[in-house]
Amino acid sequence: MSSTSTRTHSVESIINRGLKSDQIDISAVFKGDLFGRNVFDLQKMRLRLQKGTYNALLKTIQSGSALDLSIADEVASAMKNWAIERGATHFAHVFFPLTGLTAEKHDSFLSLDATGNAIAEFSGSSLIQGEPDASSLPSGGLRATFEARGYTVWDVTSPAYLLESQNGTTLCIPTAFVSWTGEALDKKTPLLRSMQALDRQARRVLALFGHKNIPMVSSTAGPEQEYFLIDSHFYYTRPDLYTCGRTLFGAPPARGQEFEDHYFGAIPERVLAFMMEVDYECYKLGIPIKTRHNETAPAQYEIAPIFETANIATDHNQLIISILKRVARKHGLTAIFHEKPFKGVNGSGKHVNFSFGNKVQGNLLDPGETPHENAQFLIFCAAMIRGVSLHARLLRAVVASASNDDRLGAHEAPPAIMSIFLGDQLNDVFEQIKAGGARSSKQRGIMQVGADILPSLAKDTGDRNRTSPIAFTGNRFEFRAVGSSQSIAGPLVALNSIVADSLSYIADELERLMEGNPEKLNEAVQKVLYAIIREHGKVIFNGDGYSETWHKEAAIRGLPALRTSVEALPVFVEKEVIELFVRHGVFVERELHSRYEIYMEGYIKAINAELNTAIEITKTMIYPAATRYLSELALSVSRRKEAGLKPDMTVLRKIEGLIDSLEKQMSKLEDIKTKRSADLKKRAEYACNKILPAIHSTREIVDALEGEIADDLWPLATYGEMLFIK
Ligand code: ADP
Ligand code: MG
Repeated sequence: MSSTSTRTHSVESIINRGLKSDQIDISAVFKGDLFGRNVFDLQKMRLRLQKGTYNALLKTIQSGSALDLSIADEVASAMKNWAIERGATHFAHVFFPLTGLTAEKHDSFLSLDATGNAIAEFSGSSLIQGEPDASSLPSGGLRATFEARGYTVWDVTSPAYLLESQNGTTLCIPTAFVSWTGEALDKKTPLLRSMQALDRQARRVLALFGHKNIPMVSSTAGPEQEYFLIDSHFYYTRPDLYTCGRTLFGAPPARGQEFEDHYFGAIPERVLAFMMEVDYECYKLGIPIKTRHNETAPAQYEIAPIFETANIATDHNQLIISILKRVARKHGLTAIFHEKPFKGVNGSGKHVNFSFGNKVQGNLLDPGETPHENAQFLIFCAAMIRGVSLHARLLRAVVASASNDDRLGAHEAPPAIMSIFLGDQLNDVFEQIKAGGARSSKQRGIMQVGADILPSLAKDTGDRNRTSPIAFTGNRFEFRAVGSSQSIAGPLVALNSIVADSLSYIADELERLMEGNPEKLNEAVQKVLYAIIREHGKVIFNGDGYSETWHKEAAIRGLPALRTSVEALPVFVEKEVIELFVRHGVFVERELHSRYEIYMEGYIKAINAELNTAIEITKTMIYPAATRYLSELALSVSRRKEAGLKPDMTVLRKIEGLIDSLEKQMSKLEDIKTKRSADLKKRAEYACNKILPAIHSTREIVDALEGEIADDLWPLATYGEMLFIK
């Protein structure tokens, strides 16, 4: 098919598609058993397990105590029976390798009895531990290929669930993935360790506030997931989209997002049908989807669940992404998670709302009603401020990737400089503490921390700042620099660890200042808050994070600005970072080196794939289209001359000039491709400083050609088509 017919055919199919009506009854979420139907949750466990077994399991889930292995067989058998009743034939250990994706190893329940009949079997040991041959997954030197063994270990705190597919059902068991020496090969293991660290230190501080023998403190996360949705016909005309996840070429559409009419606009019917089915699939898996809406850019949307504990929120976010992809395909759409798929239109992030608390003390970042709660709140809030100030570089490193670099630092995204937005009221409180204890607050007369009540902090008022990478939003922090395609595990590991570390410092300080006397609590709190805000207040910024003045101001304040992943990723192996993680048992040093290597490799691979794709597209699609058009024009010019006319040569010369530049650029790209270095850092720098600019220069030529060449010869779906036709 010629390019024109491919593209016209796409448009025709979209118009003639009509709405697909699927037989889903989403209203069953309130009337029936839809929510959690496919999850082996606490309710089902209680019904199917002996009381003692159930209680032992519950204890592990709720208090983080070690799993009693003797109950594994009974749990496995109950789980298997439930799954088989629901049609399952296979089970899979699901794990989260350092690629940031989800991996699964499937086995059937099949076993043969003495007479050769097929029976279903699932032992406790198959539930608890698996051994995928995972030698092809990145381990960053943690596992030599000759010792390929990696183990998946059941994560009791994240419930098993059923994955339904067209021809059968699989029981999925969330697991951690570790090497035979116990080193973490995945994203889940450090997350669980960091949650433990935060729990330990938060309870130390709470004990000083008089809360003893209290339930485990868990971090909570509510990720707002942004994504693009375009018709699959267009998607598959673009090798750059399906290979690299973003368009390497594409002239701006005649109409962009400047009308600002998409954000919160009415959701197109086709998209709404898709979203309903996404919600339906999520409900079956017990994922509490709450929000869905249009985002700022055309064809951009957001989905967000009600927050959950960090570990479950992370597993659920991975599931949400795969559900979005799967359901989109059913609707003839493709969901795109690259952070910057379209140049000149807003990119996609994932705002990770973060807090911590437990059932009894509640959300510890919620300013309470009483003075006592206020003081406690300020302490936890100060722990976050200190953490961000000390480890701003780390927070930049955990959101680093080739694709997120395209977004961070661009004008619509949070800047690469990590700062905290507190909002007017809370800022005022900390300003006063810094001023040495002037105790008047904006609304009220006197405010003595711990002895008077805070002005009730405005939640979700107009007092919002969209330009800050880390913003306090009334009862939680929103970490906005996270990329849409990233696992939220890494960012949560960092947040948990930096807060744990500051809480440990705070607990030490309070203990020292109080000298065992609970009466001295308020005075000690004042002193600690004062010290923290004096030293770390520099990280608080309530202005416009996109502005030039902030970039200058941040430099004066000494805040790090790590522009690219090449600058940010080495932070994983900086001394302070290694010490932080080792101190709290989150990573051993080798694990950090492995992460550094794997993420750098990932960065290099992503950019090399872009280079290869740029070469392929220019050579096999753009250049042929351009030269064909040139011949057409040349022919027309000569015919007109033959006819005695005097044709204008401007367009012909322009195309000829662009083709000339393209030819030179194509040989430049080939040159760049052949240069290789063995050194990891050098290769990453080369990708960043040589390959990316070359791709960019190629784009300038190709986009100029797009504006000149006859539309019926243009081989790639245009921005206008992709973003506006649905
Ligand atoms: P926004 O107004 O920022 O777009 P949304 O309603 O889209 O907010 O998303 C806010 C997210 O923050 C939701 O997932 C919500 O459940 C979550 N959230 C609320 N409270 C907490 C908390 N204590 N800890 C973590 N996340 C929370
Ligand atoms: Mg939102």
